[in-house]
Amino acid sequence: MSYEYDSQNIFAKILRGEIPNKTVLETEHSLAFEDIQPQAPVHVLVIPKGPYVSYDHFALDASDAEIVDFTRAVGEVCKISGVQPSAGGNGFRAIANTGEAGVQEVPHLHVHILGGRVLGRMISKG
Ligand code: AMP
Repeated sequence: MSYEYDSQNIFAKILRGEIPNKTVLETEHSLAFEDIQPQAPVHVLVIPKGPYVSYDHFALDASDAEIVDFTRAVGEVCKISGVQPSAGGNGFRAIANTGEAGVQEVPHLHVHILGGRVLGRMISKG
């Protein structure tokens, strides 16, 4: 089955400049911005500019240049946000919710970078 990208999703609109965002970082192939409903003191979303529904879609179909750019953007966001343990930060969690079981709300790949407090267990039990 192929991936079907909905060009009307909210992150596509952000990328087209149709709705505002609080940009943390912009690169050739990626954009990072503050989550509108932060669940931790640091809550940044990193998205590719290309039309990828999910992490698996991106990992399988994106170009090497897009993948390198996106991966480096995640690293830069960790650096900018001050969550890197190697630089005195307290650590972070990177999450890419995918599909129904992953409870993905926006069908454009986004990696949540969460930090600034102890985040608890990785997933709730049950
Ligand atoms: P997910 O459940 O992984 O799809 O998460 C989608 C995330 O997008 C949620 O954390 C929302 O708070 C966030 N979100 C939705 N709309 C916006 C927006 N306009 N700007 C920034 N973040 C948003």
